[in-house]
Amino acid sequence: MSVDESCVRAGDKPVDNPTDLAAEYPIVEVFHSVQGEGYHAGIPHVFVRFGNCNLRCEWCDTDFLTFKTMNAIDLLGEISNFDCKRIIFTGGEPMLQDLWPLHRLLKARGYTLSVETNGTIEVPEGLLDWICVSPKDQMYPDVKLRQRTGDELKCVFIGQDLSMYDELRQGFKHNFLQPCYMELESVEWNGKNFAETEAIVKQNPQWRLSLQTHKWMGVD
Ligand code: SF4
Repeated sequence: MSVDESCVRAGDKPVDNPTDLAAEYPIVEVFHSVQGEGYHAGIPHVFVRFGNCNLRCEWCDTDFLTFKTMNAIDLLGEISNFDCKRIIFTGGEPMLQDLWPLHRLLKARGYTLSVETNGTIEVPEGLLDWICVSPKDQMYPDVKLRQRTGDELKCVFIGQDLSMYDELRQGFKHNFLQPCYMELESVEWNGKNFAETEAIVKQNPQWRLSLQTHKWMGVD
């Protein structure tokens, strides 16, 4: 279904498909915060964090196995509690879900939809307004990256040879390198990663430094 067909309206009111409203999703949390990293850092968004992931990164700080099942109609209700028209689908891995029902419901209400994905599942054309791929092949060299184009490529730096992204980078408008940050590690451990990533970006200006500023602020 194309984006245009998907949003049926009667005058000012969206006309929702009952099947879309009944769609079920595993939801860890829905919250309103300021994006702390990458291209949209500093801009408020509603974050919809989905449960489940097809990878297990050692730096992962999300308990994506603890979630509740929510209908799209209830999810819509939670999202509309916030005075914010920008949404980020994150996880877990959001592309494990069929996001078309949410797309139709939310686009009909004027939302801008972004996704943060590990790139192992292709994103259907027209589903989202902004695609941020954060590949994990520095850790899982055998995992196939299927989403090789998008708006933002955001790589966690753990000392990998950046030439592994030479081809991939061409598919994205913005390239970010982010230090690996682990809450349970010491200030010195994390500080060393920051310093190394900063030094690498200085030598490789095709990358921009991305910092997880929300973690310093102690917010989600
Ligand atoms: S891909 Fe993302 S959500 Fe999944 S384990 Fe890795 S960091 Fe966590």
